[in-house]
Amino acid sequence: MTDETHMTSSQNNQLSLEMIETRCTLCGSSNDKLLFEKEGFRHVCCQTCGLVYVNPRLKFHKDFQTVSGTGSMGDDQLSRLQILRICKELSMLDNYRKLNRILEIGPGKGWFLSIAKLVGWETWAMEINLDAIENLKRKNINNIITSGSVISGSGHESFDVIRMWDVIEHLEWPRALLEEIFNSLRSGGLLRLSTTNINSLSRMVNGPEWVYLNGSDHIVLFDPVTIDKLLKLVGFRRIRIRTRSFNLRRKLYHPEREIKVKFHPLRPFRKIIDETIKFTNFGHQMIVDAVKEA
Ligand SMILES: [Zn+2]
Repeated sequence: MTDETHMTSSQNNQLSLEMIETRCTLCGSSNDKLLFEKEGFRHVCCQTCGLVYVNPRLKFHKDFQTVSGTGSMGDDQLSRLQILRICKELSMLDNYRKLNRILEIGPGKGWFLSIAKLVGWETWAMEINLDAIENLKRKNINNIITSGSVISGSGHESFDVIRMWDVIEHLEWPRALLEEIFNSLRSGGLLRLSTTNINSLSRMVNGPEWVYLNGSDHIVLFDPVTIDKLLKLVGFRRIRIRTRSFNLRRKLYHPEREIKVKFHPLRPFRKIIDETIKFTNFGHQMIVDAVKEA
């Protein structure tokens, strides 16, 4: 592993690239098997429960998230279609609206919370990235938990809905955060999350070159089976998992290291696959709804 490979900003240069051995966040086992290595990061599969994760991972992984953020924080402006999608989602979330409090963990540019606030929700954010925190303040999202736990920032059973979009794959210990989320939701409250699907057709076709495999950022990689196991273990019931999207992009997650897309026999069919894969469990984005039953 070299500095050139893993550093994306001058701030990152101040952080150590020391690696640390870890274990499975789902079942606690240390019995893992190497699947492949990419850019110096070993991607392993837990031999007990099947979870895929990066081991060893960067010791200061969380600090990297704080200063540089990872991947996309979202768009600077929303399209009409994106606004409509958020409105549609908020309309569905009205079914859970009793306390009128919603929390988004890792809200990035804060568009979802801004629109939620417009329609009357008391909006909360949990965010560690310094740029994102400034962004939220500019959008008048002022209930921001910047450190500690969800509960220490907001109290037990205080939210109707907790949303976590493309965040869980960045966490060192997803199970610990999900337990906090469970305790922070009121009975009957909803956790809504999205994450990439390691068992997707896009990943099978692209192998280790799959765009979302980026061991410095995405350190825990779920599929419909493992996310369902983890949510049940934490106590959630009525878990609904959908998947969507297929693409052949092999561009690395960091745009400065883009590699050329090669020809693939599925390329002529990619649009039709993209439109129909939502009827299967093999789309590369998972959208998960999990209820804390009363
Ligand atoms: Zn495991």
